[in-house]
Amino acid sequence: MLPPMSPAKRKPAAPAVDPGDGLGHYRAKRDFARTPEPSGAGDSRTATGPAGMYVIHKHHAGHLHYDLRLESGGVLKSWAIPKGPSLDPADKRLAVEVEDHPLDYAGFEGAIPEGEYGAGTVIVWDRGTFRPQGEASFEEMLEKGAVKVEIAGEKLAGGFALVRTRFGGKKNNWLLIKEKDAHARPGSDVTAEAPSSVLSGRDVDEVR
Ligand code: MN
Repeated sequence: MLPPMSPAKRKPAAPAVDPGDGLGHYRAKRDFARTPEPSGAGDSRTATGPAGMYVIHKHHAGHLHYDLRLESGGVLKSWAIPKGPSLDPADKRLAVEVEDHPLDYAGFEGAIPEGEYGAGTVIVWDRGTFRPQGEASFEEMLEKGAVKVEIAGEKLAGGFALVRTRFGGKKNNWLLIKEKDAHARPGSDVTAEAPSSVLSGRDVDEVR
């Protein structure tokens, strides 16, 4: 049983994620007069080459989780990872596809007020660039549900696979898996070893 919510805090049911929607779902969920998150209206970044932006936010909302974001088509494609990423190739981490976020979100850290969507605190846990691996474009790999990327971050590096699953009968569930390469660290727990922001050095509960 879920605890009852006060009427003031009840939100309309989130629409199903439609990949390629752009920022429509992102904006529909948020009141930019109340949340410090960027609306995306100021995005002015232009393409800088084959490497796209990579960022992982650590988000202490109702539950602590990590949000992987990879640049594609002028937005950040986003997945919520309950257990966070791993550098151990034996770990398959559930990554639930969520709404696209604006490019400006890559640098966002702050406190989302009580009652707002995603209420809690957010830090930039890792940041850098990524390159798709192989012949297909990143967009083609997303469409097929079989993505391979090379990440160059401060905490994560090397090859990762993102594979769409039918787990739970849902289309939004993917698995994030570290490839076996020189950056793999079997038995390690990178979220415990490096808990804090790469921008500010703070952990999520120091952001308030
Ligand atoms: Mn989140």
